[in-house]
Amino acid sequence: MTNKKVAVIGAGIGGLSAAVRLQKLGYQVSLFEKENQVGGKMNQINEEGFKFDVGPTIVMMKDIYEEVFEFAGVDPNDYLPFEKVDPAMKLYFDQNKSMKISTDLPDLIKNLESISEEDANGYLKFLSAMYDRYLVAKNHFLTRSYRSFRDFYNWSSLYNGLKLKTLSDAYSSISKFVKDENLKKSLAFQTLYIGISPYQGPSLYNIIPMIELFYGIYYLKGGMYTVAKAMEKLFKQLGGEVYLNSSVDEIVIENKKTEGIRINDKILSFDDVVCDADFPYAVKNLIKNKKYKGKYTDKKIEKMEYSCSCFLLYLGLDKKYEVDSLHTIHFAKDFNKNIDDLFKNNRLPDDPSYYIYVPSKMDDSVAPKDNEAVYVLVPVPELSKFDDWSDASIKEYRNLILDKIKSETNFKDIDEHIIYENHYTPKDFEIRFNAYNGATFGLKPTLMQSNYYRPHNKYNYADNLYFCGSSTHPGAGVPIVMQGAKLAVEELLKDEG
Ligand SMILES: Cc1cc2nc3c(=O)[nH]c(=O)nc-3n(C[C@H](O)[C@H](O)[C@H](O)COP(=O)(O)OP(=O)(O)OC[C@H]3O[C@@H](n4cnc5c(N)ncnc54)[C@H](O)[C@@H]3O)c2cc1C
Repeated sequence: MTNKKVAVIGAGIGGLSAAVRLQKLGYQVSLFEKENQVGGKMNQINEEGFKFDVGPTIVMMKDIYEEVFEFAGVDPNDYLPFEKVDPAMKLYFDQNKSMKISTDLPDLIKNLESISEEDANGYLKFLSAMYDRYLVAKNHFLTRSYRSFRDFYNWSSLYNGLKLKTLSDAYSSISKFVKDENLKKSLAFQTLYIGISPYQGPSLYNIIPMIELFYGIYYLKGGMYTVAKAMEKLFKQLGGEVYLNSSVDEIVIENKKTEGIRINDKILSFDDVVCDADFPYAVKNLIKNKKYKGKYTDKKIEKMEYSCSCFLLYLGLDKKYEVDSLHTIHFAKDFNKNIDDLFKNNRLPDDPSYYIYVPSKMDDSVAPKDNEAVYVLVPVPELSKFDDWSDASIKEYRNLILDKIKSETNFKDIDEHIIYENHYTPKDFEIRFNAYNGATFGLKPTLMQSNYYRPHNKYNYADNLYFCGSSTHPGAGVPIVMQGAKLAVEELLKDEG
């Protein structure tokens, strides 16, 4: 038991996870969130009978979600009503060519053999190779944090780093196992989950499709926001305090020691601060004294590379449709060009790939009876690459996406049945959640922005300050951010001896 007081900045999933753990450990934790509800990108729009998850929708690595509840000494089943999703996903390469990603092995093999036995064999070998890499990543990189050069540059890390074979890009690495172009795409697009190109992103991220298949994809009644609300409830039950509509203006540091936070003119003293607000935003805006920015000068932050962002449409429809999967991906006709538009040409793709999520297929609590709640996500460049999100360009892009949906999916008459509509652009992610450059997945996980080279969970340039969240180690995605929060808490405990 300790009487120490900790401030957590930001009630995204990172801040919530850190807050629950610290409160359980006996700290007195105050959680400050600028918005009027918790969750950060894991937010919810709840209007006119429709509930839409704002950001994350795909639950992977369920064990990591459960672990924080177990750590707090409660049964995760009492908080998280998981339901397995099978088929996990449906992919459309064009209107007539689709593939069901099933976690049922006979089903999966049947689908693969319909392409060729050779590719079915290659696919299985790919999964086995990725499982090898996953074990290395899990045991040596995801579950440990870095403070000093030596933590990374030691024989064990270097040896295991080589085993990750991370120097090649995701697409080339897949091409060594399978020949069919669509099958390659089906294993490559998942790098977009963390906002990086499959043609450039390190091949380590090929473990994502393996994780989907081996560990399954889940849905939570009420949508992903159920996780944020469950964590808030647990934190309060443990005695933690949540302050909403409380935007922190400064992390107060004196003589290299973090003394607390400032909100408007009020300085609040704390023994430690854990910051879940996006790292580049936080260092640039909340740390005022240049001395304590260390190598993260404003110039360096501007020059770092950022993941892509997303344009989202949230549509409430007064009609039920034939929806064959909770999660559906529709690939651009020219996927290569689509990716180039996002990461090289810095323009809005005119023939984009898009993702459709229809939670009302599984859950009647998210839409009125006989209505459908539809979420459409389109990857777009982050704001330093493209920032024309005027009302006119939003309208134009929205219409382009709806035309594609009408001609390529079962939602043929969707525009006649929209009774509620909302959208998020990269600007909304920047304004609402302080996501730097509106980059929805934070700093891009290039080799030079990963592991030791990603911002550390223990801040190097001031004491008693810790960071979690997508732009810090180990990276983006709900379970990975939860893992980062755990590492930040472990670093704080290490400092306490
Ligand atoms: C559209 C989209 C789809 C996604 N899909 C998936 C998916 O399917 N599966 C998955 O696992 N992941 C997905 N992700 C990624 C995942 O949502 C994120 O990696 C994760 O939610 C980030 O959590 P975080 O705590 O790092 O950041 P955030 O959620 O951004 O939390 C940071 C919090 O800090 C607050 N804050 C900022 N500045 C201040 C301040 N000065 N004072 C007080 N509070 C402040 C913000 O308001 C915010 O609440 C998706 C993300 C997006 C945007």
